[in-house]
Amino acid sequence: MKCPYCSNLDTRVVDSRPAEDGAAIRRRRSCDACGKRFTTYEKVETIPLIIIKKDNTREQYNRRKIENGIIRACYKRPVPAEEIERMADKIETMVFSLEEKEIPSSVVGEMVMDGLKDLDEVAYVRFASVYREFKDVNTFMDELKKILDQ
Ligand SMILES: [Zn+2]
Repeated sequence: MKCPYCSNLDTRVVDSRPAEDGAAIRRRRSCDACGKRFTTYEKVETIPLIIIKKDNTREQYNRRKIENGIIRACYKRPVPAEEIERMADKIETMVFSLEEKEIPSSVVGEMVMDGLKDLDEVAYVRFASVYREFKDVNTFMDELKKILDQ
């Protein structure tokens, strides 16, 4: 890290501590040439992620929406809150590891469906019925049959 006073490149970290509630690391550095000290902050790079909705409009990615979708599907089901939290974590990791700037909401929806399938069958069917917008009872029964056949 270049010294802001003399532009010398040889600087040393003399102190390191968490800042901003652990979201950043604050480092005190000392310049070997002029002896002056300065501070740097190291932060995780947050990529702004855009979700493309069904009607092609865009909105900022929001983890809350994933959580709410799972919570709604698991309403009155024996699914502990921490399981929901863990599933949201897993989906969020998958979403960000796609390393895309824009992701269709359907991709996220499929991830939620896959997760619910292992978590709770009723929650899965509930989510799928809203998400897939079953047009009639037959498509719904087809989907249900697919699950039961597995
Ligand atoms: Zn210096």
